[in-house]
Amino acid sequence: DLAPVKRALISVSDKTGLAELGRALAERGIELVSTGGSAKALRVAGLEVRDVADLTGFPEMMDGRVKTLHPAVHGGLLALRDEPSHAAAMEEHGIGGIDLLVVNLYPFEATVAAGGDYAACVENIDIGGPAMIRAAAKNHGYVTVVVDVEDYPALLKQLDARGGTTRAFRQTMAQRAYARTAAYDAAVSTWMAGAIGEETPRRRAVAGTLAQSLRYGENPHQSAAFYVDGSDRPGVATATQHQGKELSYNNINDTDAAFELVSEFAGGDPACVIVKHANPCGVAQGATLAEAYARAFDCDRVSAFGGIIALNRELDEETAQAITGIFTEVVIAPGATEAAREVFAAKKNLRLLTTEALADPAEAGRMLKQVAGGYLVQDRDNGRIDPDALKVVTKRAPSEQEMADMRFAWTVAKHVKSNAIVYVRDGATVGVGAGQMSRVDSARIAARKSADMAEALGLDAPLIKGSVVASDAFFPFADGLMAAAEAGATAVIQPGGSMRDADVIAAADEAGLAMVFTGMRHFRH
Ligand code: 5GP
Repeated sequence: DLAPVKRALISVSDKTGLAELGRALAERGIELVSTGGSAKALRVAGLEVRDVADLTGFPEMMDGRVKTLHPAVHGGLLALRDEPSHAAAMEEHGIGGIDLLVVNLYPFEATVAAGGDYAACVENIDIGGPAMIRAAAKNHGYVTVVVDVEDYPALLKQLDARGGTTRAFRQTMAQRAYARTAAYDAAVSTWMAGAIGEETPRRRAVAGTLAQSLRYGENPHQSAAFYVDGSDRPGVATATQHQGKELSYNNINDTDAAFELVSEFAGGDPACVIVKHANPCGVAQGATLAEAYARAFDCDRVSAFGGIIALNRELDEETAQAITGIFTEVVIAPGATEAAREVFAAKKNLRLLTTEALADPAEAGRMLKQVAGGYLVQDRDNGRIDPDALKVVTKRAPSEQEMADMRFAWTVAKHVKSNAIVYVRDGATVGVGAGQMSRVDSARIAARKSADMAEALGLDAPLIKGSVVASDAFFPFADGLMAAAEAGATAVIQPGGSMRDADVIAAADEAGLAMVFTGMRHFRH
């Protein structure tokens, strides 16, 4: 299954590593054929190159729109070497085989990103490049195609170790080639949808642009990539990264969760969210950002290690100092002062992202989730409760402080995986129970963590004593509510709507709790 490489066609817009590759191929006795700019660069490097025009008998024409679109090229790429009729056709028309194709495409994505006008974008749609890539990839039984500068070393390694390329290598390269042309056309389609005013979310969801090849997915044995949909929503996809290594798959997912939650506090007091595994492990507001961070940290110091932090305003020096006290993966904020950036500069691994603005939680949008054999599509959960519409259902009405804390807890619960139980005191979470299959367990886990924190901080009583609690969905039985009351909650916010609401309300009255119904549920899975 070894395919020899005697002749290579090189046509690249990005000329990184071109001279080195050309030299390495020439040293291995491979004939080089190339298009205008690439041939020139190879000659400057002192290499012998044959012009593609020499092969086709046609000059490159129409501003390069037509250079390689010719049977002499495509026949050389597509011919089945072992098929007698193909060999005869090559012979008859004087077509030589092309064994290796090295192409990277006109910089369409970069032209769009740089704000190129309509004509510039159109002119940067590569035609001959994708045609050759697709032809060579189809004929991977014989032909090797390389579309990424990063694959040059692997190609040379193959040639040295084997004196040709293996079928497995050609298949891998062909697969990458089709991924590239698919992403390229998707980028063209996405851009065009915007340019002609067809920017419906559906079109965007279909046409994504590859923003980053990720080192791996949720786990190292899963490959992964980050596609952006062209939306200008402030967030991890549109943020500027100032320092630190590339974001990973999990970083992107967690940063998104943290930033979407902190954006709920737009225009409010300084707020800080700390996220682990896409769930908040501490959320707080404070008189200053540093205070908000300290209070969020105190909710669950153990989980906060290696967390993702989102802030609702510009990162300042004092907060930056506090954050560097423990290992943190990512900080995302609308901005960062010079002094804060200097503090972070000493922490090479800490990523700092700035977004300029917060996201609008009320903005409409679509969410996609994959299941085996299909996709689930739904509106983003942009539901927000009207504070005046909250219904007090217990004999005791909540105090003003309880009411404020309940609204805070409700906001956080919306961003916690179900079943979500969130305890809050004085504008800071003091216990978060997430992702349990039973609501009672979520209530108990949060209470236990709060007790652990009290011990670690040397407090007389856990912060959860005298807190309020939010439940993302109704209590089907009174047991979950009682677990929260035992943990120390004095007031409860929940959707209501259970068949046993009457039992749950009676239990709340008996325990002296105040309870309000929102009439809205916030499942999140
Ligand atoms: P060069 O810099 O070598 O002149 O051009 C290299 C670029 O031309 C590559 O990005 C390649 O994909 C592209 N290319 C090669 N053949 C054709 C063609 O026939 N038409 C168009 N539009 N682009 C081509």
